[in-house]
Amino acid sequence: MKKIIIAIDGYSACGKSTTARQVASRLGYGYIDTGAMYRATALYFHQHYVHLTNPIAIAKALEDISITFHYNEKLHRNETYLNGLNVEDEIRKMYISDIVSEVSAVPEVRKEMTMLQRKMGKKRGVVMDGRDIGTNVYPDAELKIFMVADMHIRAARRQQELLERKQVVDLDEIIENLAKRDHLDTTRTEGPLSKAEDAYVVDTSFITLEEQTDYILGLATSKIVNSYMAEQLNQDPF
Ligand code: C5P
Repeated sequence: MKKIIIAIDGYSACGKSTTARQVASRLGYGYIDTGAMYRATALYFHQHYVHLTNPIAIAKALEDISITFHYNEKLHRNETYLNGLNVEDEIRKMYISDIVSEVSAVPEVRKEMTMLQRKMGKKRGVVMDGRDIGTNVYPDAELKIFMVADMHIRAARRQQELLERKQVVDLDEIIENLAKRDHLDTTRTEGPLSKAEDAYVVDTSFITLEEQTDYILGLATSKIVNSYMAEQLNQDPF
């Protein structure tokens, strides 16, 4: 059966990653968290004092960065590695959330990440979540989802996620961070967060993780069957 690309874009903390991970696992597809790639880049820039006004330092840093994902058997999740080091917990900290949108707005950074993401999805059969997957990285994705949710619900969910990573953060600080990132992500010139014309909007404010996963799986199944039928008709015209 032909494998498709599923692009899940939307605002931070709407449940994109959790849903994408579940959809990927149910379909036997790969899962790529593109936000983690921007976060790892922001961490590298922070650690190496790369200034966003210095194009030479940015180009050098991008050459030196290697981002990979490895499955953690114990925690049953993919974890992010930066130049061979596990940075999964570090990149989720608030000081990275505070700088990541400025780093991800740099055109050279976006160019590099887009190139890597296209390589990762080359064989299709992936669920990719981010901000510009359906509009820029894979405008030909067979299924595009755009996730939205109420700000207070998003912030409460993010607070819970941080708590699970043993970080206690005030709700107001989270709201401020989410609002700042929403603004920067939607107003940047390169690859801004926006809904692709052919994306399905999913408001996750009042539905469960199971419901959103099942809804996307239903859409995915019909897209997979449609691509299969189209392929068959093309191969065997009568
Ligand atoms: O998904 P997450 O909230 O971890 O993403 C962190 C940041 O990475 C976003 O706020 C955004 O600035 C950037 N990002 C992006 N394009 C993507 C994925 C994430 O610019 N495809």
